[in-house]
Amino acid sequence: MSQYVEILKESGLKATFQRMTILAAIEGMGHASVDEIYEKVLESHPTLSLATVYKNIVAMVERAVLVEVPISGKKSKYELRKKEHLHLICTECGSVSDRPLDPTINEDTRKVAEDSSFELRDRQVNLYGLCGECRSAKAS
Ligand SMILES: [Zn+2]
Ligand SMILES: [Zn+2]
Repeated sequence: MSQYVEILKESGLKATFQRMTILAAIEGMGHASVDEIYEKVLESHPTLSLATVYKNIVAMVERAVLVEVPISGKKSKYELRKKEHLHLICTECGSVSDRPLDPTINEDTRKVAEDSSFELRDRQVNLYGLCGECRSAKAS
């Protein structure tokens, strides 16, 4: 829990128990939707409301403690900000898995931004498609 205090403080947010509980829930799941986070949080804090959980998630996304991972046609998932990586996102079941990001992609996108006098502030590399499980389910 103590690393969450640090992360929140560095981002200018108060380390409330709601936020720490949300961060622990997300870290345990890797990537999770608001509903999944809420369900997990309820296990230890049954009095927290969905609105409170949502409000705190939004605040932590704004301060870059959390990263929103958009999934076309489904609710976004959230993850803790960590070393830059690539996502394989299944548009069928909504699973998100992390893969290492080749540093040459960094170089490419940085150059594109620079050549366009674009101030790059954030970047997310997401590949959308069908995961192995959904592919075999479709095949059978
Ligand atoms: Zn899938
Ligand atoms: Zn991720």
